[in-house]
Amino acid sequence: HTSLRELDPDVAAAVDAELKRQQSTLEMIASENFAPVAVMEAQGSVLTNKYAEGYPGRRYYGGCEHVDVTEQIAIDRVKDLFGAEYANVQPHSGASANQAALFALAKPGDTILGLDLAHGGHLTHGMRLNFSGKQFDVVAYHVDDAGLVDMAEVERLAKEHRPKVIIAGWSAYPRQLDFAEFRRIADEVEAFLWVDMAHFAGLVAAGLHPNPVPYADVVTSTTHKTLGGPRGGIILARDKDLAKKLNSAVFPGFQGGPLEHVIAAKAVSFKVAGSEEFKERQERTLQGARLLAERLTSEDARKHGVNVLSGGTDVHLVLVDLRESDLDGQQAEDRLHEVGITVNRNAVPNDPRPPMVTSGLRIGTPALATRGFDADDFREVADVFAEALKPSYDATALKARVTALADKHPLYPGL
Ligand code: PLP
Repeated sequence: HTSLRELDPDVAAAVDAELKRQQSTLEMIASENFAPVAVMEAQGSVLTNKYAEGYPGRRYYGGCEHVDVTEQIAIDRVKDLFGAEYANVQPHSGASANQAALFALAKPGDTILGLDLAHGGHLTHGMRLNFSGKQFDVVAYHVDDAGLVDMAEVERLAKEHRPKVIIAGWSAYPRQLDFAEFRRIADEVEAFLWVDMAHFAGLVAAGLHPNPVPYADVVTSTTHKTLGGPRGGIILARDKDLAKKLNSAVFPGFQGGPLEHVIAAKAVSFKVAGSEEFKERQERTLQGARLLAERLTSEDARKHGVNVLSGGTDVHLVLVDLRESDLDGQQAEDRLHEVGITVNRNAVPNDPRPPMVTSGLRIGTPALATRGFDADDFREVADVFAEALKPSYDATALKARVTALADKHPLYPGL
């Protein structure tokens, strides 16, 4: 019964400090969100103690009758949410889900075709140092000069290299992908189509982004980005054709015992994601991103070398282009940190600056929308943001405006 504070004051102090940081700053990392208290409660529950290798009803351990319930609820809810006939809720993370998906669809040495990391792809889509890049023969497609995925290149590379798997999905891309076109190309070269919707799954759940499930052979996602749940991964498929392969790739292929406490938390977050309130939140997420893009493409911003890749956004993130600015990505990230806004620097396609410096920022609105920010709040955030990127800026005044916004929307009151 010893509390964390009593047992381990060092760890407790760092956790408290992190809560304060989240409460007092504006979180604009596009892949982050704030999980509901109920989700954290499930994740912090006694389910953490349970071993449950296998799947509901077919476990290799006794005493699984209650975790069978929570895992089955999670499966049923997520299938319902995305219109899938198959779901696996056990992957420990997005990267684990992707590893299992790729090994279910292909074997080492096979060719895979994915979006280049430097153009917005993810590590698990074929980056050189990732398992995907080390064990598969990787061909990468790119965005064109307008910042849009070059579908003509996808088709050309697919015909030339005949990949086993075509990967559609991104970590830093501000537009929607054409899933029907990806499907057509995959069919033409008899490739599997795998969509990684980690970033935009929440928008799909809310009906504000096309659903890849009807088009793809396999869809993977994280549960903690726009979806707003606990950290984790999922695998979905529109039908059960690949169910056996996918299940066995997760367990016993890559994982042992599932994290049943996290799976219970996923179940709770899927309930939330099916609500009207969630849809309204995703609408504000999109609205916030559009307002930021507008402000950061305004004449006032352009005058100081600030612009936005692809000229705007259709999703929850904006890619700030600093190629024409005296500020590089690192300096911009530091400045925003100084005024209380957390973002990450991000390379732009064909970035002239080195990867640790970059000429861009990736900014997202999911966490602030969860906090309750509306259009007026996002206009104020956008203005603070644009002012902070000007050659001369008043850090104290900007920080005060950030604090006022944070105070207006208290996070986790009572925690
Ligand atoms: N897939 C995409 C598109 C992502 O952006 C990410 C996370 O950044 C992942 C997968 C990996 O998720 P995780 O960090 O949970 O392994």
